[in-house]
Amino acid sequence: MLEKINELIDQNYDEMVNIRRYLHQNPELSFLEDKTAEYIADFYTELNIPFEQNVGGNGVVATLKGGKPGRTIALRADFDALPIQDEKDVAYKSKVPGVMHACGHDAHTASLLVLAKIVNDFKDDLPGTLVFVHQHAEEIPPGGAKSIIETGILDDIDAIFGNHFWSQTDVGKIHTRSGSFMAGADKFSIQINGAGGHGAYPHQTKDSIVIGALLVTQLQTVISRRLDPLETAVLTIGEFNSGTSFNIIADQANLTGTVRYCNQDIQNQIINDMQQIIDGVAKTYDVEITLDYDKGYPPVINHPTETKIILDAAKKITEVNEAIEVMPQMAAEDFSYYLQKKPGAFFFTGAKQKGSSYPHHHPMFDIDETALPIAAKVLIGAYFEAQK
Ligand code: MN
Repeated sequence: MLEKINELIDQNYDEMVNIRRYLHQNPELSFLEDKTAEYIADFYTELNIPFEQNVGGNGVVATLKGGKPGRTIALRADFDALPIQDEKDVAYKSKVPGVMHACGHDAHTASLLVLAKIVNDFKDDLPGTLVFVHQHAEEIPPGGAKSIIETGILDDIDAIFGNHFWSQTDVGKIHTRSGSFMAGADKFSIQINGAGGHGAYPHQTKDSIVIGALLVTQLQTVISRRLDPLETAVLTIGEFNSGTSFNIIADQANLTGTVRYCNQDIQNQIINDMQQIIDGVAKTYDVEITLDYDKGYPPVINHPTETKIILDAAKKITEVNEAIEVMPQMAAEDFSYYLQKKPGAFFFTGAKQKGSSYPHHHPMFDIDETALPIAAKVLIGAYFEAQK
């Protein structure tokens, strides 16, 4: 059956591309993806596959029950776009000013929809149950995954798999990793309440810029001096706003930044170390400094059995010339929430275009569409592999 399904995936390549391009031209921002959700719902209505709409927001979850006993496996594709102006010169460029599918979620959706259509014709002989999870709002925390899980709709699944097309990896390569595959990503802001004054009379002030500059360098020691060097984390200050004029000592300074980490155990250690340094600097300079720390998506921690399932499934596909475990990625994904609840694995399908390789979230981002059937084959291969 799998061989026949794979043949049909190849034969339905044009439909995959057409759906991807339609979605690419009609992108919608996170949490506002009503029309995309409707498009997906219509697709399942047409197929006569039962589904639920408005799952935890704009989520759509379809369930294809096979005629033979077996395990229940979920396959997930996200469908939100980004606030970026599409600057590509192609026929299928975004029609929505300032909104673009710059992360490939259009392609995730297209490959999963066409896969559902194909497998539907085999449902009488299909072992187990396939759950198609179309997730809204991956790009912006708190994200769609968490709210979909909270509805309880996935309580009965046995495992979940998810694909991300990757524009930096050649077509034919499948990359994943058992354990930490992608990082946890947090956001913080720091406010320094000093005391402003005349640039010529610093002794009458508490200079927020000098104190802020000290914090920028001190906070780097959270990673370089306090964290075990064999752990991986990043602390980046992305904004430092302060001051109004060359001869005025600034009253306030505002800093924002992100923390990325691979191991859940070190998240609280990083927050505590940051707070300790901030408190120390505040005491030293007799100012008030506040830290607002938002915990974002946790790290994507793949389960070993399901990671092997992905790799085993990938190795059986003709077009795949490399299916390996790679180093962790410092980007984040809310697929992590599914993996906290259920066994599963997330993987990258190489989709690098020949001659160009714009990164994700870039105005020129695009993928090689020949990667679409490959991902569909890995997902359905993993489904069958997980039945064993
Ligand atoms: Mn993405």
